[in-house]
Amino acid sequence: MVVLVLNCGSSSLKFSLIDPESGDEHANGTFQRIGTENARFDWSLHGDSRRESPGRTDYRGALDAVMEVLRGIGVPGVDAVGHRFVHGGERFTESTIIDDSVLAVLESYAALAPLHNPANLMGIEAAMRSFPDVAHVAVFDTAFHQTMPPRAFMYAVPYGWYRDYGVRRYGFHGTSHRYASREAARRLGLDPRDCALVTAHLGNGCSTCAVKGGVSIDTSMGMTPLEGLMMGTRSGDVDPGLHAHLADAAGMNVRETTDSLNRKSGLLGVSGVDSDMRTVLDAASKGNERAELAFQMFCYRLAKSIGGMAVALARVDALVFTGGIGENSARVRAQVIGLLAPLGFELDDGANLAHGQGRNGLITRDGSTAALVVTADEALLIARDTWDLAAGAG
Ligand code: ADP
Repeated sequence: MVVLVLNCGSSSLKFSLIDPESGDEHANGTFQRIGTENARFDWSLHGDSRRESPGRTDYRGALDAVMEVLRGIGVPGVDAVGHRFVHGGERFTESTIIDDSVLAVLESYAALAPLHNPANLMGIEAAMRSFPDVAHVAVFDTAFHQTMPPRAFMYAVPYGWYRDYGVRRYGFHGTSHRYASREAARRLGLDPRDCALVTAHLGNGCSTCAVKGGVSIDTSMGMTPLEGLMMGTRSGDVDPGLHAHLADAAGMNVRETTDSLNRKSGLLGVSGVDSDMRTVLDAASKGNERAELAFQMFCYRLAKSIGGMAVALARVDALVFTGGIGENSARVRAQVIGLLAPLGFELDDGANLAHGQGRNGLITRDGSTAALVVTADEALLIARDTWDLAAGAG
C-alpha cells in the first residue's frame, strides 16, 4: 500500500509516497522558496533525483507542477492521501477523514493560521481533484496539544473570550513534537509513561513543547502560530500593546501590524538579510552585526522558553532538537546548550559538530542532562495516521 503525504507549508510544498507499514519511501519531492525568483522543485523516485525547472512560481503553479509529477509517477498507485493540516481548533483532537462537513469547519479556521491554513486547503482541493477515489485524511498540528491543562492553555483575558470566541492557546507542530518525544524516549531507554522531555522544533516556524508521560502539557505557540519563539519571518512574543502604539505612532491598522509580525519579523525583520538561518549565520560570520543580533536573540529566547518548559515538567530528562535548524545547526545548539548550563547541560563539542551521529543523537557529555538530535519524520507519522483511518473506513 502507498500513502501520499502532502505538506503544503507557507513557502514550501513537500510530498512523499510512503508505505506506512514498512516505512519505505518510494518518492519524495520539495517545491521550495515558492513565490520567489529562487523557487526550486526537486523530487526523487527510488533514490533517482530529478529537478524540474519551475514554470510558474506562485502557489497554485507550484501545486499544479507537483500534481502533474505525482500523476505521472503512478507507482504503485496511491491508496490514501494524508494532509498535514495546521489548525484544527478545539474540534479536532485527533486525525480525521476529510468529508464535506469537515472541509466546511476547516475553511472556517482559515483566519486562525493565515500563513498556513489557506495553503493547506488549496493542497486538499488540488489533491482531491487528482485523486478523487481514495480517502483523504487531515493530520493536525494542534491535536497533540489538546492534553494541555487549562492553566497552560488559558490566556489571562476576560473568560467570555474563551467561552464565546475560542480564544485560548492551541499549540502547533504537534506531529513533530509527538514523534521527537517518542523517538527520544526510545533511544534513551526511558519509560514513555514516566519521562519528562522538552522538544524544540526549529524549522521556518519554531516551537518548544513540554512532554510528560508521552502527552503535551505545555507548548510555546498559542492561539495562532505567531506566539512564542522568534522564527524565520514571525516575531514570536511581543507586547500586545504594540498594536495601539503603532496605530498612534505610524497610522498602522491591526491587519497591517499583524501581517508584519507574521511575514516581516523574526530572523528576517531583525537581520534585514533573510529568513533562512543558513544565510543569517553566513552574514553574521562575515561581520554583519544585525545578523549576529538576530542569531543571539533567536538562541536567547529559545533558551528562556526551554527553561519555562522545565518549570512545567518539574524536571528534565532530556532536551530534543528537531526541524531544519535543530537538526543541522551546530552553532545554534551550542549557543542554546551554553545558556542552559543552570539546568545541568554540558555540550560535547565533537558530538554536536557531528549532529549526534554515531551516538544515537546525543550531543551532551556523560553526566550532563541529556540533549539529543532527532531527525523529524513527520511524513511517516502522517502516513501511519492516514492509513489507520483509511483502512478502518474500508
Ligand atoms: P519547514 O519549517 O519549512 O519545514 P525546515 O524544517 O526545513 O523548514 O527548516 C528550515 C530552516 O532550517 C531554515 O531556517 C534553514 O536555514 C534551516 N537550516 C537547514 N539547514 C541548515 C544548516 N545546515 N544550518 C543552519 N540552518 C539550517
